[in-house]
Amino acid sequence: MIRIVRPRLPTELEASLLVLTQEMARTPVTERGEQAERMWERKTVRRDVYRPVREALEDMAPGVDCCMYCGNHLADTVDHFVPKSQCGLRTFYWPNLLLACSTCNTRFKGNKYRSDGLVGSLLVDPTREDPFDHLDLGLASGVYRPVEDSPKGEWTIKVCGLNEGKRPRVRAEAWLNLADDLEGWARARADGDRKNMRRKVYRMRTQPFADVCYAALHKAVSGDAPRIFAAEEPGVLELLRDGELRAAFQV
Ligand SMILES: [Zn+2]
Repeated sequence: MIRIVRPRLPTELEASLLVLTQEMARTPVTERGEQAERMWERKTVRRDVYRPVREALEDMAPGVDCCMYCGNHLADTVDHFVPKSQCGLRTFYWPNLLLACSTCNTRFKGNKYRSDGLVGSLLVDPTREDPFDHLDLGLASGVYRPVEDSPKGEWTIKVCGLNEGKRPRVRAEAWLNLADDLEGWARARADGDRKNMRRKVYRMRTQPFADVCYAALHKAVSGDAPRIFAAEEPGVLELLRDGELRAAFQV
């Protein structure tokens, strides 16, 4: 899970969402959950709202439509951060909408949002805060752990199933691929081969689990970096800290 910047929507789409929210506000509170389901499935909403919202989220997402929870690519559902069954008024509220893969949306996260009442949601919202404050990704293992026993980190790992199934294994593979591509990028630079440098950056940016790449870039500038990267090839840390490479990733 990585930090994602949420842009404003085109004015027309923003206005359409507002009209739907106003319609929801006129619905009695006790009926909003069911009404939200009905409105979300409405034919005109699917065509004029759902589709453009999903496209806006795909543009926002890292890599190739990476799920904003687990980081895997080709996510294709719009998820309500606060489930519409719990707060119908947020069904058409842009800051409540995230791009999710169907595994996160239905099998893991589903309706398991929770609020502790005082400090807001216990689930990390990557569009509002930096997930790295709560979640640490082991690059070689592909396993997430909470940062300093962060309750938010713990809850997020559990709710989103971040360490379930083959996810850690695929992340660990992504890290090996990334290390190879970094070395390929450095060789291309030494040869003055700009085209190949761009290709390597494109490959690194678009591989599944974009969180691996951004976690590596994040860890490389932390005080603990020499220890974290001690087991890796000697040049890897240096490359992750390279100004030209970081500029290509806009970090
Ligand atoms: Zn996912």
